[in-house]
Amino acid sequence: MRALLTMDDIASKNTPAIVDYLEEKHIPVIFFAWGQNIERYHDEALYALKKGNIIGNHSYTHPQFSSISLEDGIKEIEKCEQILDDLYKEAGVARTYRPFRFPYGDKGGANKEGLQKYLVSHGFNKVDDREITYPWWKEQGLDRDIDTFWTFDFAEYNIRPGSGFTAEDVLKRMHDKNPKSGAALFAPDCYNMLLFHAHDETDEMVPGYYRLFLDECLKNGVEFVEPKFL
Ligand SMILES: [Zn+2]
Repeated sequence: MRALLTMDDIASKNTPAIVDYLEEKHIPVIFFAWGQNIERYHDEALYALKKGNIIGNHSYTHPQFSSISLEDGIKEIEKCEQILDDLYKEAGVARTYRPFRFPYGDKGGANKEGLQKYLVSHGFNKVDDREITYPWWKEQGLDRDIDTFWTFDFAEYNIRPGSGFTAEDVLKRMHDKNPKSGAALFAPDCYNMLLFHAHDETDEMVPGYYRLFLDECLKNGVEFVEPKFL
């Protein structure tokens, strides 16, 4: 079983600790950043870049793209793009790849086509998804979209005070052999794109949650692959 790790919503206080953990375990990653979070946690974002990680665009304020106009959606993307360009420059790192992920995986509803066209014509890169073999990936047209979607969602961001959702629930999800939607993480011969988050709020509830869940992947034989682009 092979997997590409993607981690959303950086930067955060715990970003450097996550970067160090991934380096220690030789787990490659694509980070997706909110522009606003890079402004809040500039040094933490810079640390991730200087360590050789790719940071993709995840919009400026993390809106639901189906609730805003096409014009405002493009502004969200461009504002984050500018912040990322500046950060790469400051880090002295060439910006070779520009992946994009929609907040909440919301591709913009009525503006979907316009947004896809914008991304295609403005130098964004599609993550190589040719190893994904789930029929629904093609049925939903995810193979044709340029933005970065996922096949498995850890859902660990649901661990919040009063939510009733616990680390145990994440582990149960990870071991579910017949999930109602998405993919089985530990199925033999599978290839997955994993959705994970850098959230200080999750760290407060389950300190070192990334270590707990990603170590579980390693223990079960997941091989993490280097990001590739089309
Ligand atoms: Zn997000």
